[in-house]
Amino acid sequence: MPIYEFECGHCGEKFELLLGVRHDPKEIRCPKCRATKARRLMSTFSSAGGSHVPGSSCASGGST
Ligand SMILES: [Zn+2]
Repeated sequence: MPIYEFECGHCGEKFELLLGVRHDPKEIRCPKCRATKARRLMSTFSSAGGSHVPGSSCASGGST
């Protein structure tokens, strides 16, 4: 399950949440000030534009 990073638009607190397929940004509360103005941050590893190995994600797959 993916972990998303959020930044509170009220106090600037950054926090991570583990979200499933169903998630509503309006229901996400800042753990510090309880505001519901959190916005999702982009993944830092993808914006780096570094290592991109095709097929490597299949290494740990399989349920045989
Ligand atoms: Zn906050």
